[in-house]
Amino acid sequence: MKTLFIKDILKEDFLGKEVSIKGWVYRMRDMKDKVFFVIRDSSGIIQAVVKKESVDQKTWEDATKFQIEGSLEVKGILRKDERAPGGYEIEVKEIKVYDYGKPFPLKGDEDVDTIQKYRHLWIRTRWFTDVLKIKHSLIVHLRDWFIKDGWYEVTPAILVGNAAENTTELFEVKYFEDKAYLSQSAQLYLEALIFALEKVYSLTPSFRAELSRTKRHLHEYWHFEIEAAWYHVEDIIKVMEESLKYSIEKTIEERKSEFEELKSITGRDISELKQFVEKPWKVITYKDAIKKLQDLGVNIKYGDDFGSDEERLLTEQFDVPVFVTHYPREVKAFYMYEVGDGTVKNFDLLAPEGYGEIIGGSEREWRYDILHKKIEEWGLDKFKVKVGNEEISAYEWYEDLRRYGSVPHSGMGLGIERFLRWICKLDHIRDTQPFPRLRGSWLY
Ligand code: ATP
Ligand code: MG
Ligand code: MG
Ligand code: MG
Repeated sequence: MKTLFIKDILKEDFLGKEVSIKGWVYRMRDMKDKVFFVIRDSSGIIQAVVKKESVDQKTWEDATKFQIEGSLEVKGILRKDERAPGGYEIEVKEIKVYDYGKPFPLKGDEDVDTIQKYRHLWIRTRWFTDVLKIKHSLIVHLRDWFIKDGWYEVTPAILVGNAAENTTELFEVKYFEDKAYLSQSAQLYLEALIFALEKVYSLTPSFRAELSRTKRHLHEYWHFEIEAAWYHVEDIIKVMEESLKYSIEKTIEERKSEFEELKSITGRDISELKQFVEKPWKVITYKDAIKKLQDLGVNIKYGDDFGSDEERLLTEQFDVPVFVTHYPREVKAFYMYEVGDGTVKNFDLLAPEGYGEIIGGSEREWRYDILHKKIEEWGLDKFKVKVGNEEISAYEWYEDLRRYGSVPHSGMGLGIERFLRWICKLDHIRDTQPFPRLRGSWLY
């Protein structure tokens, strides 16, 4: 076991005392009678110097045999050294060798294909470690907000029986003598669960066999979804502005040094994020968004869906995230509550700086007659499932939720990797996942 991490010993209290640290060789410089190591662990880096004159022969020989990413434990005295990264240095007395290592195949300037091939090694990269830690913090604090606000965490199914929404983007899997699909969204299950728990959320993987290659689509992503009885779409908008701001604010506080390091790679400055937390977020209707785009000279008409280019242009008009509401019914899912003027009570949250959609949310159609008609109108009743010897509509169970004590309810889905991509100012979504699933790339 390991109890002391590098960040724990970079303290005045340890000055002049013997410390020991387990980790990996991050940098190494062999200077005839001294070997300088920079050692890394999950918490940070520290310099360690091995002086030929002050260690025994075996320790000296060991010190000269390491490769980058070799693993070791060093024991020695902690001193202050202005020239060392972080301002401290360990003067090594003893080395315990775990693995000298072999020449490491990555230097830090590899192309995308090489990185993909060595993904399992590349994930040790310092800036990617920062991204992983920021992801951790965003998730933890988001969850925290919902727990404090009285929501229940639930565990919906991932192997699903009906092609709930988009039949072209489904991954089909064998399910004994039958077939099933990998879940694209937990929403329908969450809708069933609100009758027991009223306010629920889940964090699960969602799978989408997206055909187009973009910088914002993965085939497997982590989906944070919420659903609440008695909530209207305006309530969900409020909840999401508050909870995301909370998550961002806490993450900034907790990950100062990670953001500092990341800044030189992606250009993300904490002060930009602070602005997003401090200012109120925008709410505009789809209709106004179309008008804005037309005024900017975009060839788009009422009824068209936005692509990433339109979303990018739109968000560049604002310095905060924008909730775009009331889309035409035709471009959105069948279960959204219709207002009567051809629009639905929904919203997409578009992240600023060109990032675009990170959330899709809506009030659900909770009136049985209207939902039933819509399922027929959209031809969804053709999806059948076998229950015993009977063939019934795959949406029968979903319609039941409107037959037995239906209530107004609303929810949303946030793509964790989309959120993280924006917060870290990453160009491509593949860098939000340790093992991204992208068409054409090797599956581990
Ligand atoms: P897009 O328009 O970008 O394809 P969508 O409207 O199909 O997204 P939704 O069905 O609304 O996505 O899913 C809810 C959220 O899940 C999205 O707002 C987004 O944050 C995330 N998401 C959807 N598809 C992907 C994907 N392929 N990779 C990563 N995140 C995704
Ligand atoms: Mg999509
Ligand atoms: Mg969309
Ligand atoms: Mg959407």
